Amino acid sequence: MKKNDHQVIQQLFDDYIRMYSSRDDQLTAHFSEDFSGFTGGGDFLVKQREEWVAITRQDFAQIKDPIRIEIKDLSIQSLADTIAVATGFFTINLPIDDQILSRETARLVLIFRLESAGWKITHSSISIPYHLVREGEVYPMKELVDRNQFLEKMVSERTTQLSDAKETLERINEQLTNEIAKHKETELQIHKLVQQLEVERDTAQLNAVTDSLTGLVNRRYFDGAISAEFYRLKRSGAFLSIIMVDIDHFKQFNDFYGHLAGDNCLKVVGSVLKNVICRVPDVIARYGGEEFVVMLPETDRNGAINIAEQMRDAIEKRAIPHAASATANHITISLGVVTISTGEDPVTPEQIVAMADNALYSAKKNGRNRCEFFVKSPSL
Ligand code: GH3
Ligand code: MG
Ligand code: MG
Repeated sequence: MKKNDHQVIQQLFDDYIRMYSSRDDQLTAHFSEDFSGFTGGGDFLVKQREEWVAITRQDFAQIKDPIRIEIKDLSIQSLADTIAVATGFFTINLPIDDQILSRETARLVLIFRLESAGWKITHSSISIPYHLVREGEVYPMKELVDRNQFLEKMVSERTTQLSDAKETLERINEQLTNEIAKHKETELQIHKLVQQLEVERDTAQLNAVTDSLTGLVNRRYFDGAISAEFYRLKRSGAFLSIIMVDIDHFKQFNDFYGHLAGDNCLKVVGSVLKNVICRVPDVIARYGGEEFVVMLPETDRNGAINIAEQMRDAIEKRAIPHAASATANHITISLGVVTISTGEDPVTPEQIVAMADNALYSAKKNGRNRCEFFVKSPSL
C-alpha cells in the first residue's frame, strides 16, 4: 500500500458513509463485480453484486429522507497493495423518532480492492447488536436475565389484571343473570295481571249489558244494538222487525204467588222466548219489568208475525199456572209487532220501538194472549 493510500481509503470510507446517508444511488457504482456481504437485519449471505445493488436500492426506497450516521471509531488496515479493510463503529439515526437503533452501536467492515477501474468495495458486512454485552461478559447474560425478569413481571401484572377483569365480568354476568330473572318474573306477573284485568273488564262489560235475573241482555244493550242494526240496514234498505212482549196480568201473579215466584216466572218466560229465536243476528232483551223486546234484522212482516206467534204459543204450551189471571189459568203473553223497510220508512230506532209498543197496547186492548201488528195511524 502506498503512503497516501491510507488517506484514499479513509476518503473512500467517508464517501461511502456520505452517499449512504444521503441516499445517493451513485453508491452502487462503488461495488465490485466480485462482491459478497450481508446486511444488518438480514439472515442471508449476498454473493452477487446485482443482488447487493438491489438491496441498497430497496433500502433507499424504504427510507427516502437522509439518515444521520455518527462515526464513533474507525480502523483502516492495508492487507496488500491492492486490498484494504475499513472497520467503522457508528450509530444510525433514522429520520424517525427511534429509541432502539439510535442507541446501539453498528459495526461495518468494508473490504476495498484496487481494480482496473479504481478502488471498489468487494465485501461489506454490517452488524447491529441489540443486546449489548456488559462489562465482564462475552454473552449478554445480564441483559437477557433483566429482560426475562421484565417480561415475567409484565406477564404476572397482565395475569393479575386479566384475573381481576375476569372476576369483574363474572360478577357483572351474575348481576345481569339475576336482573334478567327478576325482569322475567316481573314480566310474568304483569302478564298475569293484564290477563286478570282483561277477564275483569270482560266480566264488567258483560255485567253492564246483562240482566242478572234472566241472563238475557238488558235494555241498554238492546238500545245500542237496534241503533247499530238500523243504520247498518239503512244502506241496504232491508226489513227490520221488532216484537214487544209483555206478560199478562203479572201484577196479579206476583200478588197471588209472591215476588219470588214472580222472579222465577220471569226467568222461565225469558228462556222460553229465547229458545224460539234461532238466527244469530236476532236479539232478545229484557226491556224492563215483565217486558221483553225482540229485534229481528232482515225479517219481513210475515216472518216477524210468525216468530211472535211461535213465542205466544210456546208460553201457552209451557203452561205456567196463573190462577189469578183473567185471560187463562196459565201465564200468557201479549205481543206487538212492527216491520219497517229501513230504506223507505223515515223513522228513528226509538220510533220503531214506540210502534211495537203501540201494537202491544192494541194486543192488550183486544183481549191479551195475542199478537197485533202495528198499523200506521196519522199520529205516527
Ligand atoms: P197487563 O196484563 O196489562 O200487562 O197487566 P200487568 O199486571 O202485567 O201489568 P202491570 O204494569 O200492572 O204490572 C206489572 C207488574 O210486574 C208489576 C210488578 O210488580 C211486576 N214486576 C216488574 N218487574 C218485576 C220483577 O223483576 N220481578 C217480579 N217478581 N215482578 C216484577
Ligand atoms: Mg208491562
Ligand atoms: Mg204485563
